[in-house]
This record gives sequence, C-alpha cells and structure tokens, in this order.
Amino acid sequence: HRADLAAGRALPAVTRDGRTVTLLANVATAEESRAAVAAGAEGAGLVRTELPFLTAADWPDEAAHAAALRPVLDPLAGLVATVRTLDFAPDKLPPFLTAAGARQLPPEALATQLRAVVAAGAATRLRVMLPMVESADQVEAARALLPGAVPCGAMVETAAAVEGIDGIAAAADFLSIGTNDLTASLLGLDRLDPALTPARAADRPVLRAIAATVAAAGRHDRPLSVCGDAAADPHAVPLLIGVGCRILSVTPSALDAVRARIRTLDTAECAKAAAAVLG
Ligand code: PEP
Ligand code: MG
Repeated sequence: HRADLAAGRALPAVTRDGRTVTLLANVATAEESRAAVAAGAEGAGLVRTELPFLTAADWPDEAAHAAALRPVLDPLAGLVATVRTLDFAPDKLPPFLTAAGARQLPPEALATQLRAVVAAGAATRLRVMLPMVESADQVEAARALLPGAVPCGAMVETAAAVEGIDGIAAAADFLSIGTNDLTASLLGLDRLDPALTPARAADRPVLRAIAATVAAAGRHDRPLSVCGDAAADPHAVPLLIGVGCRILSVTPSALDAVRARIRTLDTAECAKAAAAVLG
C-alpha cells in the first residue's frame, strides 16, 4: 500500500473534476526537508524554527539561527520555503521564558532572527510567516524589521485573528491557517487535551472560521494555505477543499496519502459536505 502511494508521486494532486491542489510540507529538520522534496512537495509551507532552542539558555543570536536553519533550507533551494518566526508557547517553552511571556517575541529577538532567515534562505523562494498574529500592527511591525522584499505572511490560529481577519489579510502578503491552535482556541480546549484531534477542525465553529478566512483571503487577493494537522486528516481534507482551500501543507510522511485522497475527491461534492457542516 505504501509502495502504491509512493508510485502516485508522479501524478499531480488534482481532484476528479480537475482542480489542482498545491501540496507543501511542514518541516523542522534537514531530514524532513529532504523527505518532503523526495515525496514531491512543491516546497515548505511551514518551517518551524523554535525546536532547536527549547533548551537554549537565552535568545539565539544570528549565528545560532543560521547554524540551525541552513541545513533545513539547503534541500529547499529553488523551492518555496515559508519560515515561521520563533513560536514559543506554554507547551514549547525554553528555560529563559515563562509561560506568560512565551508569546511575546521582543523586537530585537525578532530582528535578529529575520536577518538570519533572509541570509540562510537566499537560495530558496523565501517567505516569512508570523505565528499567533492577532492584528495588522503585528504584521506591519515585523515587515519593518524584514530586510529586502521578502513576502511576510500571517498565521490565522486564534479566535481574535478570525475576528480581525480583514485587517490582517490587508496587511499580510499571504495567510496560513494553523488548525491546531485555531481548533483549540475556538473549542476552548487546551493544546495538550487528548480531545483536540485534527478532525475537530471539521466542527462547525472551526470550519466556519476557516471559511471566513478563505473568504477574506479572496477579498484581498492573498494566497491562503492550511498548515495545521487537519490538512492531512482524511475526514477534514474534503471539508477544507469544500470551503475553498487549495494549498495544503502537511508533514512529509503524509504527502503521499493526502495526494491520493485529493485524487478521489470532487470539489462540488466537497462543497456540499462543507455546506452541510456550516449550516
Ligand atoms: C498550528 O497551530 O496549527 C500550527 C501549524 O502550528 P504549531 O502546531 O506549530 O503550533
Ligand atoms: Mg500554532
């Protein structure tokens, strides 16, 4: 079965009615980047950068960022590389932060990382993505620190982001829905709650928020991807397609199965299924 799926790598990720879905990968290591390219991803829709620093004594300097990031980005030369800035959280906490302070990346720490990202990603089709964005101001502040003309996007992963989606969409060059945190936020679940599964992105309040984000991206003519684990969930994928998502970023080991699933789908049927959930 795995061999059959891998054989499908030569086939495009196209629905039965001929709609192309762009498949990107979520990566954090060089090995994952290589696996993503081998499995036919068009690039990385999410490069997580906080993982090497969970045991760091202090904010990483530019050299530390570069050392961590270069091996991850090297296999992505010529491809889309969507590098997310540090996303420490209560469940991803380095010793120099408290849970309460985890979400505030000081401007100096952000500026340092952005310089390193732009240098390390020079051979890629680089994009920078900000986690936990709740206002257009955050996008504008980050863009002001970003050297060059690198696209700057916003993750949509909180109820507040969905409420302010038009302002955020206007300020950002692209949007990416983080269904892991968005589902937790909208359903009032802790990120570590076992009830928080990727399939819960198909719950009505979450799917409504996703549909509202897709609509805002359309109004502002911004590319929109989904990079939470729902993008690889067999139950959620048809509903994401049904509300108009056309770019999915998934863990490399899921690329073959997601491509095969997309090739079984019809977008009109997906839209009907989504409409039934949205009510
Ligand atoms: C998400 O929240 O859906 C996401 C992709 O980011 P992370 O899992 O790293 O919080
Ligand atoms: Mg998140």
